[in-house]
Amino acid sequence: MKRALIASLAFLMFAAVASAQNSTSETQHKTPPTIDQRTTGMQKLPGFFTYFWDAREGKLWLQIDKWNTPFLYYESLPNGVGSNDVGLDRGQPGKTKVVHFERGGPRILLVAENERYRAVTDDLEQRQAVQQAFAQSVLWGFEAAAEDGESVLVDATPFFLSDAHEVAAKLAALKQGNYHVDPSRSAIYLSRTRNFPENTDVESTLTFVGENPGGWVEQVTPDPRAITVHEHFSFIPAPSDGFHERSDDPRSSFFGISYMDFATPVDQPIVKRYIAHFRLAKKDPSAAMSEPVKPIVYYVDRAIPEPIRSAVVEGTAWWDTAFRAAGYNEAFQVKLLPEGVDPMDVRYNVVEWVPRATRGWAYGSAIVDPRTGEIINGHVNLDALRIRQVFLIAQGLLDPFGRDPAALQRANEMALARIRQLDAHETGHTLGLMHNYAGSIVNRSSVMDYPPPTVALGADGALDVSDAYAIGIGEWDKVSIAYGYSDLSQAKNRHWRLTRFSMLHSQEGFCTSRIRTPARSAPPAPSRTFGIPAAMISTA
Ligand SMILES: [Zn+2]
Repeated sequence: MKRALIASLAFLMFAAVASAQNSTSETQHKTPPTIDQRTTGMQKLPGFFTYFWDAREGKLWLQIDKWNTPFLYYESLPNGVGSNDVGLDRGQPGKTKVVHFERGGPRILLVAENERYRAVTDDLEQRQAVQQAFAQSVLWGFEAAAEDGESVLVDATPFFLSDAHEVAAKLAALKQGNYHVDPSRSAIYLSRTRNFPENTDVESTLTFVGENPGGWVEQVTPDPRAITVHEHFSFIPAPSDGFHERSDDPRSSFFGISYMDFATPVDQPIVKRYIAHFRLAKKDPSAAMSEPVKPIVYYVDRAIPEPIRSAVVEGTAWWDTAFRAAGYNEAFQVKLLPEGVDPMDVRYNVVEWVPRATRGWAYGSAIVDPRTGEIINGHVNLDALRIRQVFLIAQGLLDPFGRDPAALQRANEMALARIRQLDAHETGHTLGLMHNYAGSIVNRSSVMDYPPPTVALGADGALDVSDAYAIGIGEWDKVSIAYGYSDLSQAKNRHWRLTRFSMLHSQEGFCTSRIRTPARSAPPAPSRTFGIPAAMISTA
């Protein structure tokens, strides 16, 4: 197939040369304009993929200069619908794919690669056999409108105004109506269309029109026949080499990736499993404690009001304890999101605030390189109404009629304690961790559980909620982080070290998402524990 393609390209080139020799005027007619000529008067935004904004036409032109070179494509939903039942929330992560551009004449294809089936070997023919045996997915076709050598300019507006997040499909599946994008009510959203060397970001305002809207969209839209949201597109360079894949252990409690490796010897498992984790290494691998080469920094949404914001900063920062236990100083840091930073900018791990019409789930998710399991970005979504629900529970326990200011203060404190715990839980998911449903009943060993409040009965018969929720992460969480993040670059027996962490894990007692237990109420299912993740999301 590739040989045929090369042959046809060679023919086209020959034809072009022959044409040039035959007629200069005809050549001028057929020669595409240069990118400079075609983009005259447009605003140029250089970045990972340079693009041009044509304000007069409302079009975004993409300059493609990297061919058959894999990069990551990630889509998300910055502005949502506002209904927990519909589940299209502000800041909702979408899918991550490994893609590349390839060209056939004037047609430019954006191709999603198939990472589920591989042959990890130097043998080119084995690799090609697997590549040709399994389908790829062409996500979009563009037309070359101008070119300079290896660089081609395409009108990418229709791609960026497409429903990559599958909002219409979700609304239909939930029987909320049959919607489609109305191009006349959709546009590139410039203030969040930004370009950097590390990521090319484009955002669009999309209006979905339809009839017979369901009750949930009626509840949250000014006119349910027009649902306007934002979708966000990120092109991210494939991470550099040097990331160390860490093998999975059923006891390790991490989400991860898996794929079939057809180059595996017959006496070894053909399915390979690796955990999802951030890239982290010590500056001094021989030191018991060392600063990291690059810390993991989380940023808290400024939209979170006080005193909740401070509770969220504290809850997120609990994880620093685990990284210190794993031998790192200052490896895990928490800051406020700088003013003006887009929460969907993948360079920032974010804890984002999600107002909805009704109380809903919190989420912890991660953008993961499907090739290696490297976490590129962590993203927590915290529901704005959750604290009110916990407060009402506490008030019901302590002072149902709201007459005692001191009791209301205690109810407030219990609600904030739950938010710290909830935020730490979701942050744990973004670090790669699954649930531990035994965490609450084994000495509060993990924040990765859904903890019930502990309420004590005082000698005077009064209820005491001062210890309703644990403070800080648990021992199991520390061993988890040690498994996923310890710098083992100088370990003599890396496999033995990892096995030891796993055994320590077992001693703490755990029940992960992979195990599930009928003894507990059914938890919301993580989208997938292993496999190439569409999105690595878990809830609480
Ligand atoms: Zn969870």
